[in-house]
Amino acid sequence: LEPKEEFAHKTLAMDVMRPRRSDPPLSVLTQSGMSVEQVEAVIADTSYSGFPIVMSQESQRLVGFVLRRDLVISIENARLCQEGIVGASQVLFTEHTPAQPHGGPPPLNLRSIMDLSPLAITDHTPMDITVDIFRKLGLRQCLVTQNGRLLGIITKKDILKHMAQMTNRDPESILFN
Ligand code: ADP
Repeated sequence: LEPKEEFAHKTLAMDVMRPRRSDPPLSVLTQSGMSVEQVEAVIADTSYSGFPIVMSQESQRLVGFVLRRDLVISIENARLCQEGIVGASQVLFTEHTPAQPHGGPPPLNLRSIMDLSPLAITDHTPMDITVDIFRKLGLRQCLVTQNGRLLGIITKKDILKHMAQMTNRDPESILFN
């Protein structure tokens, strides 16, 4: 992530983040309410390196971030070694594990593998500043929010791809985007 000049014409985080308008929505997990099976389906249906955790689908309020590999290992382990964990068990990323309703399987609390304060920037953050943040903090990805709602994600690769595109284009088209 070297030259910053490519972003001189105020490309914003919203121009680089995923999903694009035509893409499927951001793949998120909720901090409660999803079953082990449902989380496994999200893992199986996607290949992303990580998933933002939100308070609820409605609020899209950011709670944390979990790496795919940590999620896979923890669920596998819990299914093998943790008493009563089955597909129908609820996955929680909450501080407290509520008492289980009668007859239901015990919940699986995965808060310990969640990054509690993933870096988030607003959709209007200029990309030159975003690149600085990535370099100085050594980030692999960062989340993009608007008024507290999670909008998207930017990975290091997204930035590199965007820079490559920019340098191939003539300055006029960069200027007028
Ligand atoms: P990389 O960009 O290094 O390949 P990923 O495999 O995590 O990393 O992401 C692939 C693409 O999908 C990137 O463009 C990224 O912005 C996007 N992406 C990453 N995580 C998610 C997610 N949870 N939901 C939707 N898109 C995502």
